[in-house]
Amino acid sequence: MILTDLVAHRPFLGGPAVTTTTAATTYATAGDPDFENAHRGFIATLPNAEIRNASGQVVWTLEGYEFLAEQQAAPTVHPDLWRQARLNMANGLFKVTERIYQVRGFDISNITFVEGDTGVILIDPLTVTETAAAALALYREHRGNRPVTGMIYTHCHTDHFGGVRGVLDEADATARRVPIVAPQGFMWHAVSENIIAGNAMARRGMFQFGASLPRHACGQVDCGMGKAIPAGTRSLIAPTQIINDDTETHVIDGVTIIFHLALESEAPAEMFMHFPELRALNIAEIGCQSLHNLCPLRGAQVRDARLWSRYLHEALDRYAPTADVVFAPHNWPTWGTETITKHLTQQRDLYKHLHDQSVRLMNRGLTGIEVAEAVKLPESLSAHWGNRSHYGSIPHNVKSIVQYYLGWFDGNPAHLHGLPPEETGHRYVRYMGGPKAILEKAREDFARGDYRWVAEVTNHLVFADPSNSEARALCADALEQMGFAAEASTWRNAFLLGAQELRKGAPKLRRQNVSRDMVSALPLELLLDYLAIRLDAERAGGKRMEIEWFNRETNELWAMNLQNATMTYLPGEARGPRTARVSLDRATLATLQMDRAGIQGAFARLADEGIIQVDGDIAAVKDLLGMLEDFEPAFNIIEP
Ligand SMILES: [Zn+2]
Repeated sequence: MILTDLVAHRPFLGGPAVTTTTAATTYATAGDPDFENAHRGFIATLPNAEIRNASGQVVWTLEGYEFLAEQQAAPTVHPDLWRQARLNMANGLFKVTERIYQVRGFDISNITFVEGDTGVILIDPLTVTETAAAALALYREHRGNRPVTGMIYTHCHTDHFGGVRGVLDEADATARRVPIVAPQGFMWHAVSENIIAGNAMARRGMFQFGASLPRHACGQVDCGMGKAIPAGTRSLIAPTQIINDDTETHVIDGVTIIFHLALESEAPAEMFMHFPELRALNIAEIGCQSLHNLCPLRGAQVRDARLWSRYLHEALDRYAPTADVVFAPHNWPTWGTETITKHLTQQRDLYKHLHDQSVRLMNRGLTGIEVAEAVKLPESLSAHWGNRSHYGSIPHNVKSIVQYYLGWFDGNPAHLHGLPPEETGHRYVRYMGGPKAILEKAREDFARGDYRWVAEVTNHLVFADPSNSEARALCADALEQMGFAAEASTWRNAFLLGAQELRKGAPKLRRQNVSRDMVSALPLELLLDYLAIRLDAERAGGKRMEIEWFNRETNELWAMNLQNATMTYLPGEARGPRTARVSLDRATLATLQMDRAGIQGAFARLADEGIIQVDGDIAAVKDLLGMLEDFEPAFNIIEP
């Protein structure tokens, strides 16, 4: 993180905060229960938590966050976010309770170690193999060289399984019959989320996490759920045991675990689990120390706030009375039945309150943008630290609830066929008397602290003329002030990256570094989905073919039909005359997706080498692959 690379930042100039929670909090460390919990049971850590890969490159470090040592928030950071950013600095190996340990602060997520009779069960092996391996090494240094006797994935997000190959050798695990446990639907969702909308999500995710911002009181300070996303190698080993019933009790290495499904909550495939003998509850990612996202800024399918609350209610009802500690794959644990009950009650009511009040106002006729201004938490909910907007925010969650029920259209016919941003921009500029007149008024509004409006109106100017450097600068200044005032880390990161890109332009990016494991785990259906959404309709116009795709390893056979510039597919053999049959295996599928030469070049080479067998018209298959678009990873967002 190079400080000379800092955005030309300005001090925080005051003005209205852009989030809606305002309850007072204290930031004391000593005697502060959150700080005590974040540091309780500390055993050891690495200097700066620095972790390198085999070639010596740093994949994770807390270096650069030294400014957070100050208890007093910098004027350029919302005080709540400052406190959360300090709490998330706790790092190393921690004892949670008898037989349960966690490594925290080595990744955005936490890895948990549950000691069984003969070895150790791992829960959520972090995002990348390097951080997971470092965490296991630290654990073993202090708790002995126990073999891994179980692996549990709480849910299908990469930060909860991507490091698995750093802590588990698949052949050894198979030989020793180490159970790898995951909730129903895990594999499909684990690989699908990064595929279909992957390129758009990756680019938008840069704004959510702010990885390219400098670590600084005027830059990135936290991600709410943890400090940052690690660089490194993502992997996946398929589960061997799926939890399909609402609750299932299993004994793994002598430890009784009650698995409780929480499908369609924070993730489509998620579960939490209770350890009755250890009096410990792993609440997964539905009960961390922050308001979460009902739709993250990176984009996702909207999550069900009503169900999310229901699962928390079930956890509270069934397990809280017999739990001395609640821990999670992010942030820090909560100890004591009374405190646990309070935290789970607060979280349960947080999501239900947002859901019910949003839907009430929606049914009164308010649109998402209006509901977002109207819904405020009662003091009794907003005062609880674990409910504050460190990660999700109330306005974007409320809009997500409206979207969940009503979709993108606000119902107003005047908004049914609006013009796209560039055309809107030109007209605004013309109607408002030209760029000079707009900038003059916008500067007055900026001086009055009306940053939300200044950002909007100057962005119209940027879309009308991206070379207008005064408009870019003023839009950046307004976004920056909103970033400094934002309670949610995700909002701060998004506003500040918007400002940075207006000042310096969008970054040059190489193609997304996807995990080979994840790509080779793709079912054929998902691969065909991914080919279909890359089909350039103009290049495909007038073409007709029917191609069978056969995976020799899994025996999956799909017939893909191309006509009307559209790909469709069903399992089984071609229904019409077959153009060709393409036979390949998982590794080849992965190569096709990841090869630097692109899918067309990789296919030609693999077909020449006989690794892909084509029975029929190979020229037609090559023609088809030539119709696919390669996505640009760094498309513009804040400008046309
Ligand atoms: Zn997570």
